Amino acid sequence: MPYEDFAPVRRRMADRIARRGIRDARVLDALRTVPREAFVDQNDQTAAYEDRPLPIGEQQTISQPFIVALMLEAAELKPEDHVLEIGAGSGYAAALLGHMVAQVHAVERHESLAKAAEGRIEALGIKNVAIVTADGTWGWPLAAPYNAILVAAAAEEAPQALLDQLAPGGRLIIPIGPEHGPQWLMKYVRRQDGSFSARDLGEVRFVPLISDPTDPPQS
Ligand code: SAH
Repeated sequence: MPYEDFAPVRRRMADRIARRGIRDARVLDALRTVPREAFVDQNDQTAAYEDRPLPIGEQQTISQPFIVALMLEAAELKPEDHVLEIGAGSGYAAALLGHMVAQVHAVERHESLAKAAEGRIEALGIKNVAIVTADGTWGWPLAAPYNAILVAAAAEEAPQALLDQLAPGGRLIIPIGPEHGPQWLMKYVRRQDGSFSARDLGEVRFVPLISDPTDPPQS
């Protein structure tokens, strides 16, 4: 089915998310533009605009649209920003980011998911999003620093490498907590003097950020 057929249902999803409190017009515009149905399994396309996670293979899920919107809004994204996403999964959040900012690097530890995400991004003609296969616990030092880093998997604590790779004024949005326990969406901001502020944005549920037992990559 061509993407155009989903445009009205996509707009309704964005309207529902707006009613739930997302105010950032650029986030809502991205939600109205990026075809979420292109990031889910063929058989799930009719469910693509329900506000819930869906399976994408490797026991992973494409995140619930409201939570993605909440993270994008919290990141205070500007058109000129360079953003890192950890946990690219289907590539949907990376595509939303690509619509909103100048440059996106997205890291995914499952090569099969990264390749599929890359294929979707390419097929949609999105040019400013690069997907790489790696353990995102170490960030992506090759392209650092970043104005914002969004993490789509829960960590026990904010990885030091991600805090280090924030530019002054940079925002890290990350779910913190155990795999099966309570998790909180946290926002860290790197102040000009190098210290960090931390704020809790509410309780969430994410798959775990899985650290591979290898040495960090060389920057
Ligand atoms: N943003 C994605 C959501 C994917 S779910 C989307 O829009 O579809 C979270 C993803 O994080 C999963 O694909 C999982 O494989 C990935 N992940 C978990 N630990 C990771 C790590 N250490 N480095 C990179 N990706 C990781």
